[in-house]
This record gives sequence, structure tokens and C-alpha cells, in this order.
Amino acid sequence: MNDMTPPGSLSGVRADFPGLLTPQGERWHYLDTAATAQKPQAVIDAMSNALGRDYATVHRGVYARSANMTRAYEAARERVATFLGAQSANEIVFVRGATEGINLVAQSWGGANLQAGDRIMLSQLEHHSNIVPWQLIAQKTGAEIDVCPITDDGLIDLDWLEENLTTRHKMVALAHVSNVLGSILDAKRAAKAAHAVGAKLLLDGCQSAPRMRLAMEELDCDFFVFSAHKLYGPTGIGVVWAREELLNAMPPYQGGGAMIDRVTFEKSTYAPAPQRFEAGTPMIAEAVALHAAIDYTQNVAGEAGMEGLFAHESWLAAKAREEMGRMNSIRLLGPEKSAGIVSFVMEGVHPHDLGTILDEENVAIRAGHHCCQPLMDHLGVPATARASFGLYSDESDIEALMRGIERTQRIFG
Ligand code: PMP
Repeated sequence: MNDMTPPGSLSGVRADFPGLLTPQGERWHYLDTAATAQKPQAVIDAMSNALGRDYATVHRGVYARSANMTRAYEAARERVATFLGAQSANEIVFVRGATEGINLVAQSWGGANLQAGDRIMLSQLEHHSNIVPWQLIAQKTGAEIDVCPITDDGLIDLDWLEENLTTRHKMVALAHVSNVLGSILDAKRAAKAAHAVGAKLLLDGCQSAPRMRLAMEELDCDFFVFSAHKLYGPTGIGVVWAREELLNAMPPYQGGGAMIDRVTFEKSTYAPAPQRFEAGTPMIAEAVALHAAIDYTQNVAGEAGMEGLFAHESWLAAKAREEMGRMNSIRLLGPEKSAGIVSFVMEGVHPHDLGTILDEENVAIRAGHHCCQPLMDHLGVPATARASFGLYSDESDIEALMRGIERTQRIFG
């Protein structure tokens, strides 16, 4: 992206995504990138080559193809490390996705560090995958869960957090960006508050990794997790980042091949991190495709960097809010400044009905609770409609959305 490109249009990018056309070759207005992103041809090709021409196992083979694949798998780890501004590739654990990543931290770190009387701080807007793993480990250890409220405009209330964290809190686990409201957490401030009471901070980076510049040192969190499929990469792979020292102090999450040092029937010893947490044959082709996805995304971002993508998507979100704000029948949720995600409800129209009518117009939005039922309870709605943008979105997607919303209003009006 160059300086001349107006925010809200990254010309030419759509052609890289075969998934952005309907089977009839029409334009598909895909506004569900927060659920999962469409894949550029470069990622599809990387996956295809890794499963075809280049395929072999990693870490074990003595033949050249396996050695090459091992290099490619480890190069993907290096690539993720630079993307996150990590100190070393040893800080990068490959998992199946963010959900498995949070379960790994909850079971491994939580299992070793939580006990009865300890507390875990979550927030009202968390995704189920940053709630249920903590409930599971709380039940096992006797720890208890607290919930940080959100402000009226949908931000995690950091004033409340600072006032209510105590030395009994051992873990603070928060969404960096809300998948429903697009609200952005001041992660540094949350880290300061957590560390002031000796707690760890886990950031759920599912929605920030695809659209924000990330530097682990600056964020100052202890754990960061994300899924590749929201970052234009494949399903089936995600990342847990943590400092090496912290990872090496944690027990294994799963046992099996590749995570061991020495196995006897009496006792096994484990490999250091990150291998300690990667039991079994890993996601080989997926790691290679994730590498391609990061290369592609940063290449599109160009000199403006991830800040440019952020500006592009938040500009589109602001534009969508402005257009919808003119309609009396629409209630917008979440803060004015959001990271490319807009949730709303339409008076007298169930979000599922709206989603079905929009589908007839080749507009794909999300309708439902977005795996955030406690947030829905707080907002007093069973479901919301959500439009979310990606690097391939532009103003024509908003125009199509608005046409569909107006048609819906006529049908229900
Ligand atoms: N957290 C957030 C904020 C999300 O948006 C999602 C995906 N909707 C997840 C966690 C879970 O990610 P995954 O299903 O890829 O494991």
C-alpha cells in the first residue's frame, strides 16, 4: 500500500482471492472475515506444494525431502517469531488454533500454578474459548473466576480492573480485540495492572493478529495466542507465544512422540520448549502455508506496515457505522473506533433473517451470538448482526450491505 492509496481501498488485492467470487463469477461481498479470512492464491499454492511436490515428515527423516521439509517447518516458526517481534523462535509453539492454545495455557500453566483461593480475571466480552478453558481448570484446581465489566461503549473497563485486581489473581486473560464489538484493549495498561499484583496476562490475539502491528515486548503480555485462519492462512494451525523461560517452566500439555527427551516405562523426560508442547506429527503443510500467509499480508501492507491495514479496516468500519447510524431502525453496538468489526441489531428483524436476505444479494455477514453468550446477555440481545472487514474489503462491500439492509427494511417495514 502506498501513501497515495486512500484508506478503504487496496486496489488489486481482491484478484488474489479466488474465494471472493460466487460460483457464477459474480462479486461476493464477504463481510465475515472475523470468523475466518478468505485465502490468497499464494497461500493455496503454498499449501498445495507442501502437500504435494514437497511433502514429507519433519524432524525424523534422514532423506533430503524430510530435511528440507523440516527446514521449511522451522522457517515458519522463525517467520512467526519476526511477525510477533519475539526474541526467538523458541518462544513460538504451534498448536491447532487459538482454542487449543488457551486450553494449553490453562491446563499446563494453570494446572501447575493455580490452587484453591486463587482467582482468574476474565472480561464480559470474552469469546467462549477464553472462558470455558478457565472454567475447566478452575473446577480442577479450586480457583475462582472474576469478570471485568465493559464500559457503555464496549471497552474492557480498565479503571475497574485496576481497582479490583488483588494478589489473589494469578491470571488475567483478555481479548486484545473483541470479535463482536471490535473494541481494542489498551494491552500495556492491562499488563501493568496484572503485573502490579503478580498475575500473568494472556492476550487472545485472534482478532488483533490479522489487523494490528504486534510487538510482544511492547504489549508486555505473558501469553499471546492466535489462529492462522483469521490471518489469511489455513485452518488447523495457531500459535502460542510466551517467553522461553516461562514455557520451559511449564509441564507438557499432551504426551507423545516428538515432545520427549528420553522415554522408559519407568519415567520419561521432556524436550525443551517449544517441542515439549508439540506432541505427535505436527501441522506440516499448515505451518508452511502460515508462513506464506504472513509474507502475503505483510507484502500487501507494504511500507505502511500493519498500521496501514489497521487504518484501512477501521476506516471501513467507521464508514459502515456512519451509514448505518443514519437509519433509525439500527442500533449500533460497540465503540466508534473499532478494529474493522461492526455489530448491530435491526429493530423488528432477527439477525438471522437479515443474514438470509443479505445472502440473496451476495453479501455474507455473521448473525448469532458469535461464541460470546455472556456478552449477548450483557447487551440484552440474543444475537447480533456483524459485518467484519479484511484487507480485501472496500467501499463497494459497504454499498452492497446498505442496499441489502434497505431492502430488508422494506420487506419488514
Ligand atoms: N477468540 C476470539 C476473539 C475469536 O474471534 C475466536 C474465533 N472466532 C477465537 C478466540 C477462537 O478461535 P479458533 O476457533 O480459531 O480456535
